[in-house]
Formats: sequence, C-alpha cells, structure tokens
Amino acid sequence: MRAQMKGNWMNSGRSWMKRTWAEVSMERLEHNYHALRNLTPYGTKFLGLVKADAYGHGAVPVAMKLEELGADYLGVACLDEAVELREAGIEMPILILGCTSSIYAVELVKYDITQACYDLEYAKELSAIVSKTGSELKVHIQCDTGMTRLGFLCHEDTMEKSAQEIYEAVNLPGLVAEGIFTHFSDSDGSEEYTMMQFGRFLDIIDRVKALGYEFAIRHCANSAATLLYPATYLDMVRPGIVLYGHLPDAAMDPDLCDLVPVLELKSRVATVRDVPADTPVSYGRTHTLARDSRLAVIPVGYGDGYCRGFSNHLSILVNGRKAPITGRVCMDMCMVDVTDIPDVKEGDVVVLYGNGQPVEEGAEVMKTISYELLCVLAKRIHRIYL
Ligand SMILES: *Cc1c(COP(=O)(O)O)cnc(C)c1O
Repeated sequence: MRAQMKGNWMNSGRSWMKRTWAEVSMERLEHNYHALRNLTPYGTKFLGLVKADAYGHGAVPVAMKLEELGADYLGVACLDEAVELREAGIEMPILILGCTSSIYAVELVKYDITQACYDLEYAKELSAIVSKTGSELKVHIQCDTGMTRLGFLCHEDTMEKSAQEIYEAVNLPGLVAEGIFTHFSDSDGSEEYTMMQFGRFLDIIDRVKALGYEFAIRHCANSAATLLYPATYLDMVRPGIVLYGHLPDAAMDPDLCDLVPVLELKSRVATVRDVPADTPVSYGRTHTLARDSRLAVIPVGYGDGYCRGFSNHLSILVNGRKAPITGRVCMDMCMVDVTDIPDVKEGDVVVLYGNGQPVEEGAEVMKTISYELLCVLAKRIHRIYL
C-alpha cells in the first residue's frame, strides 16, 4: 500500500493535478466536530461514522483526525473497514454496526473490535467461539425499534421476550456487553415515529435493567437526531453525514448547526474548442448546439463516480460561473458550454462539488441524497488532505 502510494507520487509526475481530484479539508472536519460536540452536554461520548471510506472522504485520514481530536469511538460497516483502521495504527475503540460472520470472532478479538450483536443465536455463536479461546469480545446489543433492519425486535408485543433474550445474551461467557443501541429510520422526517422508536428503546433498556443488567453506553442519535433531538443523546451520539458538513435532508434548517462541507471535487479544463451551431454533442446526440458555441472538455465522468444522470441537467463552475453540462456525461469526460464565460483556457480549475456548486444540487438532479454522491466517488479520484 505504501509502495503503491509512493509509486503514484513519484512516477506519475503528479498527473492527477491535471485531472480530477478531491480536496478534503481537515480544518473543516475539525470545525464540524467541534460544532457538533458543542451541541452535546459535557460527558456525552462521540462516535464518528467512518464507514464507506468515511463517506468517500478517506477512512484512514479521517479516523486519524478524529482520534487526534479526542472522539470516543469510530463506527464502521464491516470487518474489513475495521481492520484497515487498525492496520493504519488507529487505537481507539471501533464498533462494527453491520453483520460479521461469527467465523471471524477470533479476528474481532485479535483486533480489539466491538461488534454489534443483533440476535440471541448470533450471540451464542460468538460466545461459543470466543469463550473456547479464553478471551473476551466487546459487543453492543442492537435493538430494532422500528428501522426493521437488524436487532432484537423491540415492538410492544415482543419487548418482554427480547428483554429476556438480551439478558441471556449479555450473560454469555466470553462476551462483554458494553453498550446497547438502536437506529432511527425517520429522524429527519417524523418526530412522532422517532419518539415512538426512542420510547421503545428506553423501554427495553429499563426491562433489561429490571432483570439485572445495566449498559455503560446507550446510544441512538444519528445526524438528524443529533441536530433535532437532544433528549435522545443518552451516553453517546453517533453522527455521520453532518461530520462531513452536509445535512441528512437538504430541506432541513441549515441554522441548526454551523456546518461546512469538508470535500470539494475539482478538475481542470482539459481543452477548449469552438463548434458551429447545429452540431450534436456527445453519445446519443441528446443535445444539439443552438448557436456557434465554445465548449470546454472536463476530464471527469461516471468512471469517477460523477453521475451520468447529470447529463444536460447540472452545471460545473468555470471561473466562478455556472457552465451547463452539454450532452451526455461519458465514462472519463464531459463537455460544458462556456460560450458566455470569457477567457476560459486549458488548465483552468473548475469546481464539480463545492462552494457555489453544492453536492446537494447534484443529489437533487439524481433524486438522491448527498450521502450517495459522496460515497460513489471512485478510487481514481485522488484525495488531497488540506
Ligand atoms: C450510517 C449510520 C449512522 C449515521 O447516519 P447519518 O445519517 O450519516 O448520521 C448511525 N448509525 C448507524 C447504525 C448507521 O448505520
């Protein structure tokens, strides 16, 4: 990995500087971290989500920064993501929120990783393997209060049964049940549903407590709940997208917290050309020039995670002005109309996502959320850490 990085830097002549890159601002990440920490009372723990390569920002550098800033926990989706962080030297606690086959129980222990435990059968499998080796595995009990994805089912009519099962799970040999958590499915939408989920979560915690077990870390607040519902903070918050400076839903009030986008996606004009009226542009001839035009070729395409759906529907900032994408976005290139923008020349830096051209605008075109556009940024795009 190190040799490969060195190779890129030394042999390429830094050719990425001529193509498309992502600038990731560690200062902005730090700003967002402090803005979020300032929302929570002193003593509330902070788990930073770094799954999916830190929402496309690069998991190792982001995790290193969060460790340096004093975050309490990191959250990832799977074992590979956790091991990547450990091998990079990250020492702080890491929680895997998704499924890890129990055949990897020994690896979980070896790398000192905390695993979400989502049913009794799974708890027994982990316990059987871990207790045989005489070691201990940290787990957080996951409760399904209405997301309907993973966890002990905590509906009103399954609450007592789940309390019994959780109590049995936390007492299994080899398992150390440090925490308990649930996940909100609509905290950026319905307050009523979120509070119903929160009520179920408090109920299951109380019932397990009545049976004789108390958890050190109870957590449920994702980004939206961290912004909107302080009552849900309990012992730890678990924000993801807001750490990277984006709201979970673009319609939410931006004044809830002072957040700044961490990533800017930039490229350079590869070449500029003058093309006569009535000429079709790009695959499928979806756009025909209405007038004599000047087009700039931008070296970014869907092979970089820059969506083909942007074709004819989004702009790129060229010299601070919006240049419409003309015709289809190709795998490695797209064309923008710069007829009305003076003095555009090869090498000019352009902004694909960033100040003046927010990723949210692209998300709206794609009828999706900022999360997805950030996560799909390809490996080919070099991340530069500022
Ligand atoms: C992804 C995830 C989060 C963070 O969600 P955001 O909306 O990005 O804050 C929190 N908890 C769980 C279980 C998740 O999977």
